[in-house]
This record gives sequence, structure tokens and C-alpha cells, in this order.
Amino acid sequence: MSKKKILIAGGAGFLGSNLCANFLEKGFYVIAVDNLLTGSLDNISEFMGLPDFEFHHCDVTKFVHISGNLDYILHFASPASPIDYLKMPIQTLKVGSLGTLHLLGLAKEKNARILMASTSEIYGDPLEHPQKETYWGNVNPVGPRGVYDEAKRFLEALTMAYRNFHGVETRIVRIFNTYGPKMRLNDGRALPTFLSQALQGEDLTVFGDGSQTRSFCYVDDLVEGIYRLLLSDHADPVNIGNPVEITIKEFAEEIIALTDSNSKLIYKDLPVNDPKQRRPDITKAKNILNWQPLIDRSEGLKKTLAYFQHKLHTTLKSEPHESV
Ligand code: UDP
Repeated sequence: MSKKKILIAGGAGFLGSNLCANFLEKGFYVIAVDNLLTGSLDNISEFMGLPDFEFHHCDVTKFVHISGNLDYILHFASPASPIDYLKMPIQTLKVGSLGTLHLLGLAKEKNARILMASTSEIYGDPLEHPQKETYWGNVNPVGPRGVYDEAKRFLEALTMAYRNFHGVETRIVRIFNTYGPKMRLNDGRALPTFLSQALQGEDLTVFGDGSQTRSFCYVDDLVEGIYRLLLSDHADPVNIGNPVEITIKEFAEEIIALTDSNSKLIYKDLPVNDPKQRRPDITKAKNILNWQPLIDRSEGLKKTLAYFQHKLHTTLKSEPHESV
């Protein structure tokens, strides 16, 4: 039997490249596409040259053409950290709208099943806690985060329209904060920033008073949840995340302890519309996918630390002036 063929948009990004590894390991033929705006060839260099892997440097907001058949499509293309989408607001809106449209069109043409990366950001600064899939959210459309949040809300609406109107087989995953190897050291998110700061003996920049909460999921757990959702028959959105919640101040202290660093915490202004709390309700994923996270934070952080130590070492050696 010939191998199942999967296209992964955003395949050179943090989540995309971890998904490439997973699907290659499971015996799929993987086509990664990426415009390398925030993704990096470093993340997929280990797959280049494998007989079951190809990479296309392509911008899904313009046009996507793939010859031959496709069984599955994953849409993981988008700037995804607050500083990235603040720097690239139009590209963020385009990849969530035009990119989504093109990939849905491709799924329709190829009769492929498509899974869309949505996000806990569609819940905005949530008034319901923890967040269930039935919650509609509290998003400021014209705030700085609106470019990402609204693009992803549009992505969900367009995906349902293609399902209901054209009968395309769709899946939607709502991803909560995820961490692990292949995150960009300087992507501005809490974990890479804190780890880079602690490893370089700099003080850790906690925004606000650090009492806001997040719930961090190790990437391997997320990937397994996505795999199960793709193969399920469930078309409505499903939260995938780790429900163990922590304040950002405690998280920063945890990173200092993990790295055995002498760094202190310093406080900076809280970014506009920064959500005060976030924790997934994963009852649905447990029930329909028989999924729950298996890797706790201490184990996940150790694995991530090893990656960052290695990466920081090689980055500083090759680019001594780059600030990470
Ligand atoms: N944060 C922080 N210091 C940093 C970067 C982020 O205190 O250097 C805070 C940020 O304000 C937010 C939380 O950490 O409350 C998580 O931010 P991140 O950018 O990782 O993801 P978000 O969940 O906000 O998209």
C-alpha cells in the first residue's frame, strides 16, 4: 500500500517541524511548505534528503499548488508569538485568512482532510475559567493582539463554511501555550525569553506583577493530541493543552531554579490586552480522543533546557553579536 501523503503548511516552524518529525516517524510521506518568515530551515535540516520528505519554499497567502494526490493537510503557518504578530500584523491577518482560503481550496480539490491550527487566543481575555470549547471568548478586535485573534476566529468560521457548504473534511484544534525543542530563542514568548535570560545571567523580565496565569503543554503531548484529532471523526473545535496552571511570576522562578541561575526578576509594563488567565478544559479531548498530557512541566522543561543550552551555544559561537 502506498504511503499516506500529508502537506504541512508552516512545516519549518516550531510546531510544524515537530509535526513533520511525528508524521515521518509514523510512516507518512511529508511535504512541508513554509515562507520562512518566522520558520527556519534549521528546524527541518535533519529531514532534508529523506526519501519521504520534501520542502517547498512557498507563501500560502499567494497560491499553493501541489501536484499529485494528498490525503491530509495541516495548516500551521502563521506568526504565533505576540512580538512576531505585532511586527507583522498584515502578514498575520493574511495567513489566517487568505492562507486558510487557499489551503481549504486545495483540500477541496484533492479531496483531502484538513486540520486547522486555531488557538486559545480566540477566547481573548477570558471571562470563563477554565475555557471550554463552548465559550465564545472576549476578544478586542482593534487591540494589538486582534490581528492574530481575529485571523484565527475567521479561520474557524471559514473552515466550518467549507465543511458545511462544500463538504470538505475538516478538523480544528485550539492550541494553548506550548513549549519544547525548536522554539525560537528570541521569539519573545515567556519561556524562550526566560530561559535565554537565565542562561545568559540576565534578569528575567516579568510583565505586569506576574500574577497572570498560563498553562504550558509540552510539544510531544500536543503533537499526539493533533494526531488523534486528525484521525478522529470530530469536526468541531477541540482544546488541546495542559490544564496545569501557573502564574508567570512562579514560572519565572521555576526557570531560575531549573537553570541554577543567579538572575533576579525585574518587572516591566504588562502588554495591552494581555490575558489575565488561561487554562484549557480538556474534558472533550479526554472523552473523544482518549487524550491527556503525559509529560509534566519539570520533565518537559528539562528537555527544553537541553535544547536551548545547545542552541544558545551554537548561536553564540556562529553569531556572537546576535541578541537572543
Ligand atoms: N511574559 C513576561 N515576560 C516576557 C514575555 C512574556 O512576563 O519576557 C508574559 C506575558 O505578558 C504573558 C505570559 O508571559 O502574560 C505569556 O506570554 P507569551 O508571549 O509566552 O504567550 P501568550 O500566552 O501571551 O500568547
